[in-house]
Amino acid sequence: MGSKVRLNTDWLSDCGGCHIAIVDIHERILELLGAIELQRCPVLTDIKGYPDADLGLVSGAIRTEHDRHSAEAMRKSCKRIIAFGTCAVYGGVPGAGSVHTREQILDYAYGHNPTTEGHTLPADGVDSLEKLVTPIDEVIEVDLYLPGCPPHPAFIFDALLAVIEGRPPKAKDETVCARCHRRMERTEVSHVLANHDGIANRTQCFLSQGYVCLGSVTLDRCMAPCPNNGVVCTGCAGPTMQVLTEPNRDIRTEVGDRMAALTKIPRKEVIESIERAAKTHYAYAMATEMIGKKPTFLIEKWVAAIEEEGQP
Ligand code: SF4
Ligand code: SF4
Ligand code: SF4
Repeated sequence: MGSKVRLNTDWLSDCGGCHIAIVDIHERILELLGAIELQRCPVLTDIKGYPDADLGLVSGAIRTEHDRHSAEAMRKSCKRIIAFGTCAVYGGVPGAGSVHTREQILDYAYGHNPTTEGHTLPADGVDSLEKLVTPIDEVIEVDLYLPGCPPHPAFIFDALLAVIEGRPPKAKDETVCARCHRRMERTEVSHVLANHDGIANRTQCFLSQGYVCLGSVTLDRCMAPCPNNGVVCTGCAGPTMQVLTEPNRDIRTEVGDRMAALTKIPRKEVIESIERAAKTHYAYAMATEMIGKKPTFLIEKWVAAIEEEGQP
């Protein structure tokens, strides 16, 4: 192997979970460290600058001037950039803030938060929030996308190894269903259930039982831990390319069609149920334009209201 791949990482507006997931590679990280020179990494190194690097991992979305500066500094210093995690790729959970004003968000976080004392808004030395969350590829060029909240360490390991070995990543364009052990079966179920209604059968697909599960419209970058452990998928790795790129495919309609085919539940009831919980079902990709332009009229309506009137 030739000289080591110089790696910079940075996190923008995010929870830090994607960087922690790097550590979850566990002992196989030693294989990478033999080929990577970890230069800048906020959780591991104390380098404030941006040394020239071969590869950059950027997690988090853009919501402040500081985020923009960091993203641009990473782009300038790194030959290749990986948008690392759902926040970087689609805006992630912070994107759900698009349907609230900045004042509402700050008030909820600081003003009337029962777990904080003093209820003082941060002011000195803190950038103000931009109006909306922006995925990083709307600000800098991205070479590789690795969604996941966080991506499973196996996918992180493969993406890094792929760059080291100069090959494409092995990750396939499969849905969460591909790794889910539950069976899709036709049933007589006639109404959508809330997640807390009853006790779900452990082997049958959630859709067959009346629970809304987004596994079939979500890219597998996680190995399906939720449905395999009794919890519906809420789509944290973001939509499949098919859903993203085909104008008339949408999370609501895709799941509505599938659930109506498996059960006696009318498609309309499924779609309305997904709309009522839109901040759950669209939270992770709400900030990306590809979803914003879909016929997901609730999101368009909410975002338009924020832009025009400052109210949801
Ligand atoms: S993608 Fe998920 S785990 Fe990663 S930074 Fe965003 S919220 Fe955290
Ligand atoms: S829809 Fe959910 S429960 Fe059904 S197969 Fe897919 S991931 Fe599993
Ligand atoms: S919510 Fe879905 S995409 Fe996210 S970890 Fe669970 S199964 Fe994977």
